Amino acid sequence: MTSDFARYHRQMLLPGFGEDGQRRLSDATVFVLGCGALGSVAVDMLARAGVGHLVIVDRDFVELTNLQRQVLFDEDDAASSLPKAIAAKRKVAKINSGVQVTAIVDDINHTNIERYAADATLFIDGLDNYETRYLANDLAVKTSRPYVYGAAVSTTGMAFPVLPHGSGKTGWETAAGGSLATPCFRCLFDAAPPPGTSATCDTVGVLSSVVSIVANFQVAETLKILTGNYDRVNRSLLNIDLWTNENHQLNVDSAYANGDCPCCKHQRFDYLEGRAGSSAATLCGRNAVQLRHRQQAAGVNLEVIAKRIKDHGEVSTSEFMLRAAVQDQGTPYTITLFPDGRAIVKGTDEPAVARSIYAKFIGA
Ligand SMILES: [Zn+2]
Repeated sequence: MTSDFARYHRQMLLPGFGEDGQRRLSDATVFVLGCGALGSVAVDMLARAGVGHLVIVDRDFVELTNLQRQVLFDEDDAASSLPKAIAAKRKVAKINSGVQVTAIVDDINHTNIERYAADATLFIDGLDNYETRYLANDLAVKTSRPYVYGAAVSTTGMAFPVLPHGSGKTGWETAAGGSLATPCFRCLFDAAPPPGTSATCDTVGVLSSVVSIVANFQVAETLKILTGNYDRVNRSLLNIDLWTNENHQLNVDSAYANGDCPCCKHQRFDYLEGRAGSSAATLCGRNAVQLRHRQQAAGVNLEVIAKRIKDHGEVSTSEFMLRAAVQDQGTPYTITLFPDGRAIVKGTDEPAVARSIYAKFIGA
């Protein structure tokens, strides 16, 4: 055993792991999509397991109400409104200094996902919305990379590891010439629920234990995949409710064969090619809307904007963002503006209201 790997001794003892498995982990890059509840648990565990490189992309900053379940963050992070990706990187440096972290404060969309995922061996889902999941699934299928889905809301959780059916060699062929490929995310959920119909953390809350279980299930699948244990991958959809104790694994093996998935069966990537999706998104659990103004991709000068709007409310700036507390017709809003022109408007969950607040105080 090399001394570098000594700290992973208990892990290398596991069946099918060994020093070879540990070496595979240290050579791997995991793309963490979102570092909120699921993502922060996953990052913690993946860093401890010795995954060599984590690319953490998150659009949000730490708030006090996150700490109930987002185990990587603390009160200092919330007090300084640190972006979650930055806070995660700092925490990982203390947990395992051998892990390289690329922290990116941004919203994942079809214009940037291929760049952020360029080095990734595997994608792990810490997302809070269907649209970005379809996007991640599109890229995973197109490039034959594993995507480990997870979701948690209220007292319920779901998870499923996708080993895509690829057009070429995937790595999860069997010695006998078969394939261990699974259905993809779009095979399982062919369309996002209409806005307002699905439960979100906004309306029903979230139990921290369900987050932890789902994220750790995702991490277990990730470790199996990265160490080449494809035959051990869980091939059914995990479905748990820790409040009603209805826990089961749904057999979804037929979803690919019997379905007509546009993504993995017909290799059509609607989300990746920008034919589906929007530029405004309601943030789960936040009473807030994120706006992305593509025409401002060249960047904005936060200091200039701060001077312009300081007569209309309380304004502060840091190297990461501008924060303005404003009032409109008696209603308070908080606008957080990032250097790339992206904004989060807090105080509403309606994109139209958020757009008008943005236009009024920041400019269209
Ligand atoms: Zn599919």
